[in-house]
Amino acid sequence: MNLKELAAHVTVEFQKHYGRPPRWIVAAPGRVNVIGEHTDYNDGFVLPMAIERYAVMAADAADTPGQVNVYDTHFKESATIDISAPVTKGQPKWSNYIRGVFAGFQNRGVTIPALDVAFMSTVPLGGGLSSSAALEVCTATLMEAATGKAIDPIEKALLAQKAEHDFAGVPCGIMDQFISALGREGHLLLLDCRTRKTQLVPMSDPSVALLVINTNVKHELSGGEYAERRAQCEEAARNIGVKSLRDCTADQLDQAKGKLSEVVYRRARHVIGEIERTTHAAEGIRQSNWPTVGQFMYASHYALRDDYEVSCKELDVVVEIAEDIGYQGGVYGCRMTGGGFGGCCVALVKADCVNAITKKIAADYKAKTGIDAAIFASRPAAGATIIKG
Ligand code: ADP
Ligand code: MG
Repeated sequence: MNLKELAAHVTVEFQKHYGRPPRWIVAAPGRVNVIGEHTDYNDGFVLPMAIERYAVMAADAADTPGQVNVYDTHFKESATIDISAPVTKGQPKWSNYIRGVFAGFQNRGVTIPALDVAFMSTVPLGGGLSSSAALEVCTATLMEAATGKAIDPIEKALLAQKAEHDFAGVPCGIMDQFISALGREGHLLLLDCRTRKTQLVPMSDPSVALLVINTNVKHELSGGEYAERRAQCEEAARNIGVKSLRDCTADQLDQAKGKLSEVVYRRARHVIGEIERTTHAAEGIRQSNWPTVGQFMYASHYALRDDYEVSCKELDVVVEIAEDIGYQGGVYGCRMTGGGFGGCCVALVKADCVNAITKKIAADYKAKTGIDAAIFASRPAAGATIIKG
């Protein structure tokens, strides 16, 4: 479903639920990180892309003072949010992403207007494509439409991030909200997680597309894996004598090898290599040098698999299938994306091979794992927009 169709759909939902047409329609996309994994908390770079999957809201002023009513088409239930006082956490659970954004606007002195809202999303929930950031940024965009006041997109992203921290209890970085708020059609976003500086990286060549392959597995972890990785990165930086691994070159790492345990050395090698790969890949994309970008993606996967040890069998299977299809079959590169231990892979492919590659990956993945993958192609989509305002 493209954005136009989605807007038409949510309009119908609003009309069905509230018996009148909506006054505002807004949207915000999900995202896939093309390269730059586990670099954000090391002050490094990430290179996400907004995908053609969106959270959309249709809304109108409500005649229920002090109250926002949100109907969610996914859970087919409504949330009633009290806006007459500082907004608090509440039920249902999904409403907390919206509540958190309202609280952020209240903290900036904005009075939340009474609204009727219909909410719909084509970003799969919990699939690692950031349906949560799409929901938050969509809500913030609705506030802009309904109050008639735009806010700086960086401030909007930070407000959305704080909503996720404080109201959903997820200590996420800045990537998801930044790309959803700042993305531009036909561009990736190179984001410096240290300075929060962003650069739009044009990817205008229509002969390539990104393929998102959801393994549909999420391995239960004992819980400490991510915290352990972070601690190992901090240990490496401390022993090397730098503020963070962002400040360390591959040469410096090798000189300090004797001061690091074997595992900590490998963790640092991934991070330092990945930060470099990410800026190089951005350069390759600018130049439409797809074979080179593809090689960086494969290298990223191998480092995440072997050095950082956050891959899993299913993610590795997808990358092996992609390698088998190879350049001849239209695959430039493929890697796991997201935190790891399940979730999605992202592949850079020739646009006119998308259908054949999708079929092949689906069939081979099923044969090797017994699991159905969910696969879709996307070009770099636009960030949050007011469709009707
Ligand atoms: P991800 O962001 O990777 O998709 P998260 O666990 O961070 O996964 O966010 C998923 C949560 O966001 C859901 O559990 C739900 O609370 C909320 N959410 C996202 N999309 C929707 C939706 N369409 N309807 C209701 N809740 C949603
Ligand atoms: Mg999320």
